[in-house]
Amino acid sequence: MGVKIRCTECGKTVPAAPSAKGAQKVCSKACRKRRNRKLARKRRRAQPKEYRQDEVLRKRAQRQREREGESRRRALTADPESASRQTIGVCHAPGSANNLAEVLDKIDKIVDETFAMSRARLRRELEAMVLKSASQSTTPPVRAGP
Ligand SMILES: [Zn+2]
Repeated sequence: MGVKIRCTECGKTVPAAPSAKGAQKVCSKACRKRRNRKLARKRRRAQPKEYRQDEVLRKRAQRQREREGESRRRALTADPESASRQTIGVCHAPGSANNLAEVLDKIDKIVDETFAMSRARLRRELEAMVLKSASQSTTPPVRAGP
């Protein structure tokens, strides 16, 4: 109770949100935005080729949309604020194509862990997953077996 964090952006010490479960790094939305931008800059700096490739694809797609007159139609039909947001594009820096490699590594790890488990443990974990997702669903869970 009463866990406090030191914001990585502004340095303020604030009480942590209990829902963050120890993962909170910043104090506010403004600091969250600042941190996300800082991390995106770091990713771009670490992988300039991948960033450049993503940027080329993003820009090419944007030009294509502009040619099709999408942004102009949006500006005429939607409210001006959302139209400008949509014309600008995304609300955060695009992810790197390198993320696919990370995702595949994670999947490999999950598969390895699953194969290393005993059958009983696998059943217990699957049951727990089903019960957890059923608790978030409106339909009641169906139990299998005796
Ligand atoms: Zn802060």
